[in-house]
Amino acid sequence: MKNKKPKLAVFKLSSCDGCQLSILDAEDELLAVLGAVDIAYFPEASSRMLPGPYDIGLIEGSVTTPHDVELARQIRKDCKVLITIGACATAGGIQALRNWKDVKEFTKIVYAHPQYISTLDRSMPVASFIHVDFELRGCPVNKYQLIDVIVAYLNNKKPNITSHSVCMECKQKGNVCVMVAHGTPCLGPVTQTGCGSICPSYDRGCYGCFGPMDSPNTSSLARNIEARGETKYDIMLAFRGFNAYSEPFRKESEVYEK
Ligand code: SF4
Ligand code: SF4
Repeated sequence: MKNKKPKLAVFKLSSCDGCQLSILDAEDELLAVLGAVDIAYFPEASSRMLPGPYDIGLIEGSVTTPHDVELARQIRKDCKVLITIGACATAGGIQALRNWKDVKEFTKIVYAHPQYISTLDRSMPVASFIHVDFELRGCPVNKYQLIDVIVAYLNNKKPNITSHSVCMECKQKGNVCVMVAHGTPCLGPVTQTGCGSICPSYDRGCYGCFGPMDSPNTSSLARNIEARGETKYDIMLAFRGFNAYSEPFRKESEVYEK
């Protein structure tokens, strides 16, 4: 009998696999979803690899090599709905730090035979090369948000992922603001929520692992942090984390690089 369940595929480009581990970590919650989908391709989890086309594709990792470009284009052809997951896939990841430097210099230092390395000058988000239907932020992604997105597409609905700042969650939890109370630099005002404001809950500033929220006022936050005595260099570094090549964080870091 023909299997009519939607086919789900999970792909990887250049990354640490952390977001795929978030999928495995969602095992209990996914059991309910698993009844509704056929996991047709997920090499990290199973040797069963069915060919496309797939109804839903999840793609982790940034585009950093010519092979990644080809693979991303093929994945787009194979998937009806394509969702990028994590900071690498949506913003180039930590590996995008090389985008401000000469990558050839790095390969000379790191590899004994750099002539065998074929890489692009920059690490870029997947959406720079192909159309993606939804970008889920986070380093790694929040498993509950991931399940929400999968379930939404299974039901032909728009995902309902909040795009407000980490500050909102801080207020909801009744956290003492580390910026106001202790003068600790915090990217919470410009970072998208999704983590439950973990870091400020433990008296630490947010370093932006969920990437920019909708319409972030990065220049106002940067001026505020500068007025608290941080150096321009440290402010540049604050915006150059896992989401350094997201446009708002990239632009703000470049303002403070000068
Ligand atoms: S601690 Fe950070 S995230 Fe929380 S309210 Fe203050 S600035 Fe916002
Ligand atoms: S760095 Fe910011 S976004 Fe990441 S877990 Fe901490 S509070 Fe959340």
